[in-house]
Amino acid sequence: MTNKIEAGWNFDNSYARLPKLFYNKVDTNPVQDPGLVILNKELAASLGLNTEALQTEDSISVFAGNKEPQGSEPLAQAYAGHQFGHFTMLGDGRAMLFGEHITPEGHRVDIQLKGSGRTPYSRGGDGRAALGPMLREYIISEAMHALGIPTTRSLAVVTTGETIIRETGLPGAILTRIAASHIRVGTFQYAAQWGTTEELKLLADYTIDRHYPELKEQENPYLSLLQEVIKRQAALIAKWQLVGFIHGVMNTDNMTISGETIDYGPCAFMDTYDLGTVFSSIDRQGRYAFGNQPYMGGWNLARFAECLIPLLHEDQEESVKIAQGEIETFSDIYKNNWLAGMRAKLGLFNEEELDETLIKDLLGLMQEHGADYTNTFRALTIGEGTTLSELPEFKEWFGHWQKRRERQEQSKEDAQQLMRNSNPAVIPRNHRVEEALEAAVNEGDYTVMERLLHVLSKPFAHTPDQEKYCKPPEPTDEPYQTFCGT
Ligand code: AMP
Ligand code: MG
Repeated sequence: MTNKIEAGWNFDNSYARLPKLFYNKVDTNPVQDPGLVILNKELAASLGLNTEALQTEDSISVFAGNKEPQGSEPLAQAYAGHQFGHFTMLGDGRAMLFGEHITPEGHRVDIQLKGSGRTPYSRGGDGRAALGPMLREYIISEAMHALGIPTTRSLAVVTTGETIIRETGLPGAILTRIAASHIRVGTFQYAAQWGTTEELKLLADYTIDRHYPELKEQENPYLSLLQEVIKRQAALIAKWQLVGFIHGVMNTDNMTISGETIDYGPCAFMDTYDLGTVFSSIDRQGRYAFGNQPYMGGWNLARFAECLIPLLHEDQEESVKIAQGEIETFSDIYKNNWLAGMRAKLGLFNEEELDETLIKDLLGLMQEHGADYTNTFRALTIGEGTTLSELPEFKEWFGHWQKRRERQEQSKEDAQQLMRNSNPAVIPRNHRVEEALEAAVNEGDYTVMERLLHVLSKPFAHTPDQEKYCKPPEPTDEPYQTFCGT
């Protein structure tokens, strides 16, 4: 039987029908000894794939890039990007797009291997990835999904049986990533820089067709595209801020047009509330610090808007004005999303003018006294004391908050429920993620990771078995650091 029938793959390759400028067809780069270490059965089932068939040798060869699934036309995508502010040509240097799987419900998703070997865009790199970082992406992207945050997903991780050379030798691995698409701000930058206006237009039309088909009827679909991408990214970044997710490398090549979080490299969740938090070892200036993420989102979208200038209006000056006007809307849209989310975290249904002050006062206390972000909101949700409880300023704040809640018509129970649904009990805390990765990579013990994934799959459940995962790490002198190879 063919793989298609067994596993349920149903490929179409619409990206490969774009002009050649946008990709290079690639051959598979077989690895020595593929071994399936984790399969996301729930995701597989939701994609209409057969979870039994996905565990056969044949399917594992597909996840390892030793074999193409039937109907796939593997390619590496071209893109550019501003990396820490510097514009560069990039492209899939260690990834391969098998194509798009069409689910039984008719949804089109990219199936991409990450760590699948060299491509024409690899530059000096080996095209490979290490097991730890691929499992890390698996854990964090799945946690993000469970938190209700748009994200690429992780279908499987296989080990390659090969050692890759970094600072030391590490076990190689390949992640199968599922995404609405891999079209990035950087894809548009690439088209704007190296393509013709016609090619740029083809990319924009393709993107509208794929992600925003309703915009085709608009008077100026390209302007509408810009507006919608601004809206989705504003909503996305607000969600990051509400749970303390720090992406770590918000380069324009790591920002999707679909509005999904992508590229879990040096990302991490913040324990202690601090706007200045930076985990990435290479982010020395704090460009992508927690508190800077909304500004960098706006900056990236300005780069996106620049790409669209040839399409927005026939008169260039007019086009620039239009683009600027739209970019200026970002901060308000972002703020409204963030305020709405913060109100929900505090159990507030209606809007009052002083809500922002109420929110900022609490965050200010958390920042000043080094309170744990997640646990402070969790404690307010379940009616426990917080590390701030004994402070007179906090008592005063608490009184204001109580009065504010009494001024809404909804019951206390409804407010409580809103808070439970808005404040996660558990996030993938760094020490827990490290513990899971260490057991998996060093001992071949995946049970720690599986337990963690289980707890993270229902972050709003507030169940007793989650309690021990709520503890912040023991204080240390060495701040947690993440690395880009991750
Ligand atoms: P990232 O930091 O994962 O967003 O990647 C930035 C760029 O570096 C992309 O073009 C990647 O394809 C490329 N890249 C990252 N790691 C490797 C590698 N091991 N081999 C080749 N290219 C890589
Ligand atoms: Mg990237």
